[in-house]
Amino acid sequence: MNGGSVVSGVQGLQGVQGLQTLQGVQEMTAAVAFAGMKRVADVVFRAGCPDCRANVELGASALRLAIGATSKTTFYSFTCPECGVAVRKPAGERIVELLTGGGVRTLRLHSPG
Ligand SMILES: [Zn+2]
Repeated sequence: MNGGSVVSGVQGLQGVQGLQTLQGVQEMTAAVAFAGMKRVADVVFRAGCPDCRANVELGASALRLAIGATSKTTFYSFTCPECGVAVRKPAGERIVELLTGGGVRTLRLHSPG
């Protein structure tokens, strides 16, 4: 009686494993589909550090863009990889376009609408 229930339990586990395998294949397919968009994430931005005057290259993930209500409160920021200082610079329209197009995380300081 006990043995019988154990066997059915194992069969149930096998069924779950089969499902997980299917999900894994689906994830791989999604990864392949996103591979074509990966170039966007590999964009490198060049910026000058006002503190140590180093010209640094930063990936999109190293930059933050904050969009305020006016262009005066719109700026981008990054941490200088050379000296570690937090750099904040005003971002004009073209820079905002460049950064958002390059996949930089954007923070909206003013509420939309
Ligand atoms: Zn620096």
